[in-house]
Amino acid sequence: MQILNSLVIGAGQAGLSASYHLQRRGIEHLLLDSDSGPGGAWQHRWDALTMRDVHGIAELPGSEPPARDGRRANEVVPAYFARYEAEHRLPVLRPVRVKSVRDDHGLLRVDAEDRSWWTRTLINATGTWSHPFVPHCPGMETFLGDQLHTVDYPGPDRFRGKRVLVVGGGASAVQFLGALAPITDTLWVTRREPSWRTDEFTPEIGRSAVALVEDRVSRGLPPASVVSVTGLILRDQEREAEWLGAYADRRPMFARIEPDGVRWADGSFEPVDVILWATGFRPAIGHLAPLRLRSPQGGIQLSDHGKGTTAVADPRVQLVGYGPSASTIGANRAGRIAARGVARRLADAPRLLD
Ligand code: FAD
Repeated sequence: MQILNSLVIGAGQAGLSASYHLQRRGIEHLLLDSDSGPGGAWQHRWDALTMRDVHGIAELPGSEPPARDGRRANEVVPAYFARYEAEHRLPVLRPVRVKSVRDDHGLLRVDAEDRSWWTRTLINATGTWSHPFVPHCPGMETFLGDQLHTVDYPGPDRFRGKRVLVVGGGASAVQFLGALAPITDTLWVTRREPSWRTDEFTPEIGRSAVALVEDRVSRGLPPASVVSVTGLILRDQEREAEWLGAYADRRPMFARIEPDGVRWADGSFEPVDVILWATGFRPAIGHLAPLRLRSPQGGIQLSDHGKGTTAVADPRVQLVGYGPSASTIGANRAGRIAARGVARRLADAPRLLD
């Protein structure tokens, strides 16, 4: 049985950064990824999302980021990741979907469908894309129109001429309304009053948003999305929708879904053809359940007051792209910190691990 010093699960921005830094430290490892090609979640994003539409892709360590132009993000970023993997000879194995990670006499046993690996340390970088979140709503199974989540969004054209209800108060909902309002009749529903940012987005604002999420993670609470605490902005692409009133027409959450629309608690009703759930994601960490990393508060507590990447409940495990590091810039930084955590663990506990 070959025992690895480290194993990374997930080859998105966070996993590639971690692998790069492990390699720089000379730590032999393997990088398992469930997708059939490079690109992490970016390869699955809708065709209409261009590099100009994304908020910005931080460069992977030691490389130049792709240009902010009109090319499709779901082609440009995967090509960038593919070049990066090849150039740095990162030890990626795909497609391999990890089913579970469990303790095995002091080692971590990583099981995929038909193979297993044993490792001394683990860096989990599985993102959120494969774990979309849709809140339960009474009557949702009776709806006769289309219901889809951000993961299934095919771009605006399929909805031309329809009445589309967008649910969610995040950046994706704002972008969807921007694209849909000029060609469909839109309705916007959010659970809370949207929080708009009218001043310029500065690095300080970004840092304080990250600090809020760090605080949650340091207390073992489920992490909030970094974007959810920075506030919403309207970009040039969304001005037409704003002018059409798409953002002003926002309503609070409805009470139930009926076959041809949605009804609020006060009895008012709106007919809709499509419900687009832009209701976000949750960390895709079900395979870590046997390690019992979750705190009683439901999140995974991370070291260094949430600034670190080491799971407090099991220091063999690092989490990157989780909570405060769930952005491309955060993922880069977390990859470096996690590789340092792995090196420290391997140095601190050689006897325990042999
Ligand atoms: P991912 O890119 O999701 O990669 C995770 C990898 O893990 C995937 O390759 C997947 O195949 C693999 N995986 C998952 N489960 C398993 C398993 N069980 N076994 C093996 N492999 C597994 N951030 C920004 O900084 N700027 C932006 O403009 C921006 N725009 C965004 C737009 C949208 C619509 C969304 C949803 C997010 C956006 N983000 C943005 C956030 C950003 O995409 C991520 O936070 C960032 O890319 C970090 O990715 P990651 O490596 O953590 O995860």
